[in-house]
Amino acid sequence: MFKGKTALVTGSTSGIGLGIAQRLAREGANVILNGFGDADEIAALRRSIAQETGVDVQYDGADMSRAEAIEAMMARAIDRFGAVDLLINNAGIQHVAAVDEFPLDKWNAILAINLSAAFHTTRLALPLMRERGFGRIVNVASAHALVASPFKSAYVAAKHGIAGFTKAVALEAAEHGVTVNAVCPGYVLTPLVQKQIPDTARARGITEEEVVRDVLLHAQPTKKFVTVEQVAAFTAFLCSADAASITGAVLPIEGGWTAH
Ligand code: NAD
Repeated sequence: MFKGKTALVTGSTSGIGLGIAQRLAREGANVILNGFGDADEIAALRRSIAQETGVDVQYDGADMSRAEAIEAMMARAIDRFGAVDLLINNAGIQHVAAVDEFPLDKWNAILAINLSAAFHTTRLALPLMRERGFGRIVNVASAHALVASPFKSAYVAAKHGIAGFTKAVALEAAEHGVTVNAVCPGYVLTPLVQKQIPDTARARGITEEEVVRDVLLHAQPTKKFVTVEQVAAFTAFLCSADAASITGAVLPIEGGWTAH
């Protein structure tokens, strides 16, 4: 479906981003992986996706918290592939703490990676998308772009911010064949969620089992984690020609969480 197109997926060495990169590669897009991790493991990932799908798989280790690093990454991507046709802003981090105890460096990092990075990649990818009359931008937001939870003030602020950013850019790009949407997953059992279970247990004074049952899955009427594959399939659909009329949408994929 995406033969000849290039996808850049930020934060794709793990979790949801990796699942999206694999899915887009299986559907024929060349992919640029981004994110942190062990160099050998990343090289192995690149090889396995390329071998399975036959597409060109590149890796760029740019730090999404730094504007200059993002500018350099976008320049390298455009130099190699001519444009980024499918831009998936997925890199994200979390920190769980009461607002009056929230570490300043964590606040700044969450706003930079979960929100400002998408501004930088978008402003640098959009001119070529517009010129070519085609582009897809999918921002991986969260159910926390639609509703809040306590002890996640920075994350909720950044995710609500990306929902607004998605709508504004969608309006600017709409006449040029470029769609801009946000997907809002509920809880997906990735390293990001696994890491916050002990912190949430500490912040709320409950056990880790109680966090999974009474905090995480309590919010989701399905009582099931959303899967990486489901988010990847949804994202691939938004990148497809069939989704040309979907833009500026902030779309839940959260097992009914925000229906409450
Ligand atoms: P994850 O921790 O498994 O993966 C995060 C990825 O981002 C990794 O590849 C990591 O290396 C990369 N990353 C982190 N900081 C970076 C930086 N400064 N520069 C470049 N890359 C960086 O997390 P995940 O659960 O797959 O989350 C992916 C996205 O999905 C995030 O935006 C997250 O907020 C969102 N999300 C996750 C869930 C969930 O339940 N897991 C739910 C809703 C939304």
